[in-house]
Parts: sequence; structure tokens; C-alpha cells
Amino acid sequence: MAFGYEFVILNEPEKEQRRYLLGLYSTIAQWSALGVFIFFQAYFLLCWFAERSTSEPPKSPFGRPGKLKSRTWARKFQQALQQVSWWTGKSVRRGWGTRGEWIAGLAWTVWLLFLSIHNTGDDFLHLTKRFGIVGASQLPLHYMLAIKSPYSPIQLITRLSHEQLKVSHQIMGRIIYFLFALHASFYLYFFVQSGFLAQRIRDLDVITGLISITMFTILSTTALEILRRWSYRVFYTTHIILAGLLLEPLFLHVTHIRPYLAEIVAIIVLHEIVRNYSVRRYSGMIGVIPGTNLVEIRIPLISTDKELTWKPGQHVYLSRPTGVSSSSWYESFVTRYRVNPFTIASLPAKDKQLLLVTRTLSGNTKSLADLARSLSAEVGPGETSPSIPIALEGPYGASVHLPDLSKFDRVLLVAGGVGATFLVPVYRSMIEGEGVFRSANPQIRFVWAVRKLAETQWALPSPDGDETESDVTQNAVEVYITRPSGANLQLDNTGDNIELAEAEQLMPFQDETEKARRGMTVHVGRPDIGSIADEVFTNSFGSVAVLACGPQIMTEELRERVGKWVKEGRDVYWHCETFGW
Ligand SMILES: Cc1cc2nc3c(=O)[nH]c(=O)nc-3n(C[C@H](O)[C@H](O)[C@H](O)COP(=O)(O)OP(=O)(O)OC[C@H]3O[C@@H](n4cnc5c(N)ncnc54)[C@H](O)[C@@H]3O)c2cc1C
Repeated sequence: MAFGYEFVILNEPEKEQRRYLLGLYSTIAQWSALGVFIFFQAYFLLCWFAERSTSEPPKSPFGRPGKLKSRTWARKFQQALQQVSWWTGKSVRRGWGTRGEWIAGLAWTVWLLFLSIHNTGDDFLHLTKRFGIVGASQLPLHYMLAIKSPYSPIQLITRLSHEQLKVSHQIMGRIIYFLFALHASFYLYFFVQSGFLAQRIRDLDVITGLISITMFTILSTTALEILRRWSYRVFYTTHIILAGLLLEPLFLHVTHIRPYLAEIVAIIVLHEIVRNYSVRRYSGMIGVIPGTNLVEIRIPLISTDKELTWKPGQHVYLSRPTGVSSSSWYESFVTRYRVNPFTIASLPAKDKQLLLVTRTLSGNTKSLADLARSLSAEVGPGETSPSIPIALEGPYGASVHLPDLSKFDRVLLVAGGVGATFLVPVYRSMIEGEGVFRSANPQIRFVWAVRKLAETQWALPSPDGDETESDVTQNAVEVYITRPSGANLQLDNTGDNIELAEAEQLMPFQDETEKARRGMTVHVGRPDIGSIADEVFTNSFGSVAVLACGPQIMTEELRERVGKWVKEGRDVYWHCETFGW
């Protein structure tokens, strides 16, 4: 046998000892996650100390000066932290994840492999079983990482949102699959070598084991980025169905993994309860924004609605509206599973409405555009479309963990296309007041690249007199029109979309710029993201917050340029919101 392992025959006490070690190592593997959580808390504590130590000394001349020494260590600590997090946040290669994800994933794999190998002696079967049980011990954490609700214990402990944790869920899935694949192939090797294959292949534990690994293979393959991009629906449906079905063959496979399966069932049930609690039905209007492939959904709120407290940048899952209200089984299914994430593009507390702006693509968003057009065809010109039932689940999102942006010397917001749904509310809450980021003297630069000016129509409501003229002009949104006239080429070449494109008004650029809203300055061509970032950094020596949401190529270019300033030791906060995974 290879690597010092053999097929050993054990007596009863030795089998008992092996059973004990299998239980011990799988328990260690499961509880090791605590180490990660403790690391997070230690990190938060250190950051808190550093923050306190570097905070400005009192402005009053009678205030006591800050402790310079402690400020120095804290500043150095913050700078080192920033350099490390910047380095780890860089992509290894486009679509291959970041350095940090690779390092964390490899470290966790090595640790689990160690727990799978340590103390197995020369017993090949012990090693084989260890791979299986150590892999199974990670399943509850894996399911927990997929919880959307902000009440997820992991989200609360790590202060990361569902979207940020999703990548850990993906990495964990790969590690578990790797361990299960080792378990299955080592067992098959053992059966073949010992001549038991023909006999054992008919046993329930082997059959259920093979079914489980097949299901895992389908789950892992359909979750690959290339397949997810080809059909998110296939990925999503397969994932939801198999993630539940998988528990049955695993339950029948071996008894000692059943405690982990019981934990998973508890996680699934609680998750479903919390998610159902987060779904609310509203009445709202939907319509196509003229001259664009955007659809807007407006849901009026009343003063007692809890939605008024939603934070800028949060998103919801919109169930595909059918236009009619029904309590059929199919309707409940659609409400629950045919959902797409969209960002709240309004300031609910100020606008007294929820606004979603969706770009028409090929799936649910296309049905949404079709519905909007058929509803507006039913009413006369100038009349508003009738209200229809709309179901939303949420709110979710990492924006609740954004720092207080008003504390930064400069804020640079960079949006591409519909990515502005994330940044417009953040921007508005800074300059219009009431919002969490309201700044007394905002130094904000908001750059927004769109293909057509018409795409910005939804963004800024008519001024209500709250903001001063200087607020509006000093911080005007710099809109860059990258394709000033002509048909909207963002559309797919499907029949309906071409129809929509043809229906657009092809207006000359001058007319377009004249239609710019107050609070916007219009430029033609692509923004020079690098120079804009440099300008923001050279115009100030203080801290800079950079938030971006748009096409990957744009946000990567921006990150690259901001990285130059991070290397120079500038105090930078970076947040990039992505509209896909
Ligand atoms: C946090 C977040 C906020 C977003 N905000 C906006 C916004 O304000 N405006 C906007 O136009 N677009 C937004 N998007 C992107 C938008 O959700 C997708 O473009 C849209 O769902 C694609 O619709 P479709 O018709 O092509 O796909 P469909 O075939 O309808 O989608 C099928 C399934 O895929 C899921 N899905 C599809 N695309 C994505 C995706 N990118 N990420 C996660 N799940 C997905 C849906 O949940 C659905 O279950 C956001 C995405 C995310 C992740």
C-alpha cells in the first residue's frame, strides 16, 4: 500500500478506538469555525482601539491633547491593516476570486486535511472514513453561510452581509466536495483491491453514498461560474432542490453523520421561517422609463411603514409580478422562488416611496418590461398605470455596515449604468440630509457613466428646497454619456427587445443635455476614471472614501488607480458593490 497505509484488520477495542477518534476529529473540525469567529472579534476589538486612539484631539483649545505615542502605534496598525486588506482583495485573475479568498480557502483545506490524516496510523480505512466525516462536519456551516437573513448568526458575528459571505459558501462547498470525493474514491479503491466491489455495491450504505456523491457533483458543476452565467435559473433551481434532497441519501448512508443532518434541518427550517417573515406584499406601479430599456417600480409608503427606516444601498428580492392578485399554489411558488435582487433606488424616508429600477435582460426582467408595456397600453396617454400587487423580500445588503461617510475628507462615488441604483441613495443621503451619511460640508464627487441621458431620469427627484443652491452645484452629479444618440445597444437581439429599441426616441445629443436634471452636469464620452481618482486624492491630504458600482472592467480600473494611493499610505475606504455572483 502507498504512503504507509494498509488494509488492516482491527479487533473490537481497536474498532471502538477508531470510532472514538472519528467522532473526536470531526467535532474538532466543526468547532474550529469558532477560532475564525474569535479572530473576527479580536480584529474588531483592535480596530476599535486603533480608531479611538487615532480620533481627533478635542477642537477646543482647553481640551487635553491626545496621547501621541498611542496614536502612532494605532496609525501604523491601521495603515498595515489597510495595505494587507488591499493586497488580499486583489483578484488573482478575472473571475478567479481574490488572493484573500485563495489564502483562506487553502488554509482551511490544509487544516481539514490535517484533521483527516492526524492519528490515523497505518489504517487505510480510518483515513478513508475520516475524509467523509470531516467533510460532513462542515455541512452545517456550509448551509449557514447561505442564509440570506441579516439575523444569520454568522452575519451578526462577522458583520458581513449575505453577498459577502456567499463566496465563503462557494469555497466551503468546494472543500467539502473535495473531501467527499477523496472519501468515495478511497472506498472504491478499497472495494476493488479487496475484491468486495460486486458484493458491496448492492448494499444500502454504498448505494446511498454513490447517490450522495453524484448529487454533490451535480451541485458543484452547476454552481460553476460558466454555468451560472449560462443559466442562473438552472443553477438556482438545481441548487435549491438538491440541497434539500441530498439530506435523504446522506441520512441513510451512515448513522454517525445524522447529528450534522439534524443541525442542517434546523438551519433550513429557521431560514425558511425568517425568509417568509421578510416577504411583504405591496401595491405599486410599474412602467418603462421612456427612451430606455429600464423599468421603474414605485411603491408608495405611509408614515407608519417600517420601510421608511431602510438604509441607502439596501436591496430586496422582487418576485416576478403577474399583474393580478391570486392566492394559488403557483402564485406562492412564484413569490418564493422566481425572484431577482434589485437595489432600493430611492430614499424611502424622504421620498415616501420605494423605487426599483431594473435593466431589461432576458429572464424575469424581460417579463417585467412586457408587463409594464401591456399595463401602460391599457391606459390613455398621460395617465398613470394602475397599481398591481408586488411582493418584496428584504431588505438585505452590506450597506448597513458602511462607515459614516460624512467623516471622510473626500468621497468619490463611481457608477456605471444601472449601478447608480446603489450610489444615488448614498449620494442623496449625504447632500439632502436626514440620511445616515448626512454631511455638513460634503466634498463629494459622483461620476456616473450612462449610455444615454434618458437613463438618469429616475435618479434625482425635483428639488424640494431643502438643499441649498451650493449643495446642488458644488456636488452636481457628473454624468458621462458614452453613447449619446442612437438605438439602445444594451438590448439583446431578441425580437421584443429590438421592438423596444425601435420605439425609442432617437434624439440628438444637444437635446439630451438640455434634458439634464438640476444637480447634474453632462459630459460626452467615457470618463477617465484614473485621472478622476488622482484628482480626488491630490485635492486633499485627508481620508478618502471610494464607492463603486458598475461594470467589472470599470470598477477594476478604479481599484487599480486607488491602489496607487493606498500604497502611498493614504487613508482610504473602498467599497465595491457587485450586481452578480
Ligand atoms: C445585490 C444586487 C442588487 C442588484 N440591483 C439591481 C438594480 O437595482 N437594478 C438592476 O437592473 N439590476 C440589479 N441587479 C442585477 C439583477 O438582479 C440581474 O441583472 C437580474 O436579476 C437579471 O435578470 P434576468 O431577467 O436576466 O434573469 P432571470 O432569468 O430572471 O434570473 C433568474 C434567477 O437568477 C437570479 N439572478 C439573476 N441574476 C442574478 C444576479 N446578477 N445576482 C443574483 N441573482 C441573480 C434571480 O434571483 C433569479 O432567481 C442586482 C443584483 C444584485 C446581486
